[in-house]
Formats: sequence, C-alpha cells, structure tokens
Amino acid sequence: MDPFQWTCPFCDRDQVVVEQNADHFARLLNVGESRYGNVGFEITAIRCANSDCNEVALTLDYGSTRFRHQIQDYEVFGSVQAWRLRPESASKVQPDFIPAVLLEDYDEACLIRDKSPKASATLARRCLQGMIRDFCGIAKGRLIDEIKELNKRLNEGTAPRGVEPESVEAIDAVRDIGNIGAHMEKDINLIVDVDPGEAQALIELIEMLFDEWYVARHKREQRLAAVKSIAAQKKAAIATGRAQIAENSAPTTDDDAPVVEV
Ligand SMILES: [Zn+2]
Repeated sequence: MDPFQWTCPFCDRDQVVVEQNADHFARLLNVGESRYGNVGFEITAIRCANSDCNEVALTLDYGSTRFRHQIQDYEVFGSVQAWRLRPESASKVQPDFIPAVLLEDYDEACLIRDKSPKASATLARRCLQGMIRDFCGIAKGRLIDEIKELNKRLNEGTAPRGVEPESVEAIDAVRDIGNIGAHMEKDINLIVDVDPGEAQALIELIEMLFDEWYVARHKREQRLAAVKSIAAQKKAAIATGRAQIAENSAPTTDDDAPVVEV
C-alpha cells in the first residue's frame, strides 16, 4: 500500500496514512451468482496517528467482486452499497464555542443525510435559522423575514462583522429546501422532495458559516486579547523602569549628604 493523504473524521487532523495504520480486507460471499454477479465485501480500517485521538475509522463496501491476481486478493469493483461504520456521521469536528443547540442540529442533519434527506434538510434549515438568531441577533419567526432584516442591516452597515452579502444570498437561495413545517399545514402534497445532494448543500453552507462567522470571530477576539496583553505588559515594564529611575535619582537622606544652608 502506498502512503496517502487522509483527514481523520474523528479529530479532523490531516495526516499521511502508512501501512502500519491501515488495513484492508476483502472477501467473496459464497452465495452463487447474484444480479450483480459474484458479490463480496471490502472492509477498510484506518487508525488515526494523532495519539490524543487514536480512533479507528471503518468503512464497508458491498458489490460485484472479483479476484485480482495483481494484488493476490479480492476486490469490490462495482459498489452496490457502502456504509460508513465508524464514525457513523460525516459531520466535521466543530469547536465547542459554537452554541450546543446549533451543533446538535448540524450533527443530526449529517447523520441522517442519506437515509432521510428531507428530515436532514429540515434540521439544517433550522440550524441556519438558529445561526441568524444567535450570531446576528435577528428573530422574526419566519426565515424569509429574518433574511430580509439581515439584508437591510447589511445595507445600513449594521450587520455583525463577518457577515458577507454572498452568504446571505446563499441562505436565501436554499431557504425553501427542507421547509416542510409551513407547507404541511396547508397541503400535505406540497412537501417538496429533497435529495441527498440538496441536503448536503445545506450542510456545507452551515459548515462554511460556522467558519466565517463563529471561528473568524473567535480568532479575532483571541488576536485582540493577545495584542492587549502585550500592550499591558509593555505598559507595566515602562512603569517599573520609570519607578527604578525615580528611585535612583531620588534625594538621599544619608547623614553624609551635604546640608544646604539657606
Ligand atoms: Zn483522529
């Protein structure tokens, strides 16, 4: 096996996977010839090299299988279905300064994306609305009104730092995906179908905004705190220096000091 680039789905650390950290196992299933021909499965396991994480990621692939003499092993060459066994969800590791309610909706939206894209999109949509409420401080009840208000603030220059017009446009573009709540009340047939690709688009928008809004704000706050702390240290050092100079040049009250008579 040649070393390859990999990002751990548990800790998000980029790394190069070497032979010692990866295993691969394929088998032909002796069930006769199926509609997909001879079938089998492949399991791939990769252990994270980050010692703080040290998790094993597992995937299973099922499909048409053949023996390859080149590698002296079976291989699935036509995948019928694949499973992400560990971790189950494709959600990315997010920092804990993002509000927990948003992270919960995001994680769940990722977890059910393939099995129930409609439910996933609904959760993702709720997460986007939650971000506008939390980060931008706008709560109007309906997402469409909140986007309008955010656009208004953008034009007036009162939107929070980091909120770009393009991002608000993107939220507006996907606003109807997963909006089942409102439609259901009126007409059950109006529920718009959602495919996994659309659900994924919403998830990626959330990931982008986590980054552009929360992570960027946190970094800015940390940088400013660092600058302020440097300034405070400098000020303290200058004050100490001045005090020393003052002490050295202060008039002495020793007995042998010259007495000036007036
Ligand atoms: Zn890891």
